[in-house]
Amino acid sequence: MSSFANLELIRSRLQDEIGTLRREAQSRVALVYPSPYHVGMSSLGFQAIYRIINETSGWACERAFLPDDLDAWRKTRMPLVTYEGEADIGSFPVVAFSVAYELEVTGLIDCLELAGIPALAEARGPEHPLIVAGGPLTFSNPLPIGPFVDVVLLGEAEELVPTLLQAVAGSTSRASLLTTLAQTPGFWVPSIHQEQLGPIGSADDTLLPARSQVLTPHTELRSMFLIEPERGCSRGCTYCVMRRSTNGGMRLVSPDVVLGHIPAEARRVGLVGAAVTDHPKIREIVRRIVDGGREVGISSLRADRLDDELVGLLARGGYRTLTTASDGASERMREQIQRKTKEKHLQRAAELARAHGMRTLKLYEMVGIPGETDDDIDELVRFARELSKVLPLALGVAPFVAKRNTPLDGTPFAGIREVEDKLERLRKGLRGVAEVRPTSARWAWVEYVLAQGGLEAGRRALTAHRAGGSFAAWKKAFADGGGRRKQLRVVS
Ligand code: SF4
Repeated sequence: MSSFANLELIRSRLQDEIGTLRREAQSRVALVYPSPYHVGMSSLGFQAIYRIINETSGWACERAFLPDDLDAWRKTRMPLVTYEGEADIGSFPVVAFSVAYELEVTGLIDCLELAGIPALAEARGPEHPLIVAGGPLTFSNPLPIGPFVDVVLLGEAEELVPTLLQAVAGSTSRASLLTTLAQTPGFWVPSIHQEQLGPIGSADDTLLPARSQVLTPHTELRSMFLIEPERGCSRGCTYCVMRRSTNGGMRLVSPDVVLGHIPAEARRVGLVGAAVTDHPKIREIVRRIVDGGREVGISSLRADRLDDELVGLLARGGYRTLTTASDGASERMREQIQRKTKEKHLQRAAELARAHGMRTLKLYEMVGIPGETDDDIDELVRFARELSKVLPLALGVAPFVAKRNTPLDGTPFAGIREVEDKLERLRKGLRGVAEVRPTSARWAWVEYVLAQGGLEAGRRALTAHRAGGSFAAWKKAFADGGGRRKQLRVVS
């Protein structure tokens, strides 16, 4: 690959986009996604922040992404550049990262290094851009990204972004800027606060719904316009960061407002949120989208909310696979984690999907929850066999990882060997009956040490990354289980 090829790819993607913003302004932000383009452009939060920065007086925003082929890009010796202006991100006064989950810390380090910016904040000076981060990770534990950033926007960023940019525009020095932000609710300044995180930001309801700015065919969601008809959740699953205790639970957007934001050219609409099917008007919203001749997708189908009408509408809206989650292997485990889904709901979901001509049922599961035994896994095998008689079944199985700001925070990881044994038991029990697609137990452990880690965990992530980033490198970097944050806060 050559520098020219890097730019060609960027230009061809831009040509296929609808909604790209090109704005002249006094100051610019490079908004960087630490995963490749097709992932970043599927992120509603990333898209929404792109628009908000461009709407802030005096500021323009250009996007950049972790290259698809990092090694090939490195060989070209070309700095990481933005899409809109093909400008080196190191030349921007502010570089803002949107971080979705723990393992993207390595993408963040790669993006900084590609731009010639020292990864560690302490190695940078005022001549370097201000490095900012926000995104879904900040709802749980952003501490491991602390060593690499100057300031973090915690939680919902709609109001924090303009506040940040006004503070940057009005500041006389980096030190005074960080001091000001450290005194402003919603901002975490690692060099000042160390491991003390304040409350997360909550946007005013009038700023909802978040929605796409750019439509592109080059994402897994293929030119889908994303919109958030509700934010948060009123349920209380004990492993979940988005449970009712986060920012007051579920906030609703009316069908008229949702429909009013969908642009005429959007032929596919994705309804995104923690618990979209809990919206009391979800049937009306989906019906109006489908009646308008559009395809529809929903990010979170709760099996206990599915009925003939809704599944029928989804089928009309292009659904061929019904995807839902039960998350606990057995009724006992689901009760323990306060997950309300029952076998009867899943059974009914499968029957409705079949009745409406869908081809597959996909079910998300979690294994390795504290107290889980082989009997729980065997119950899942038995039930999955029953479901597969109704519709071809695929199980997406993720090992349980305890997250900050949940009641299960601080719970240990089940163990790599133990999780692999459970996955093997599941695979064996369902061989030839259902497809089992597990997340790696090893990388779930890495996610765990970061989810439960502090600032030191970030430094160790850098060590692991510099040692090649293999699982062995991570194991070595965390050999003493270290990098834990100082306080384990348990919320109910
Ligand atoms: S897992 Fe889903 S239903 Fe449960 S609290 Fe989280 S968002 Fe709500």
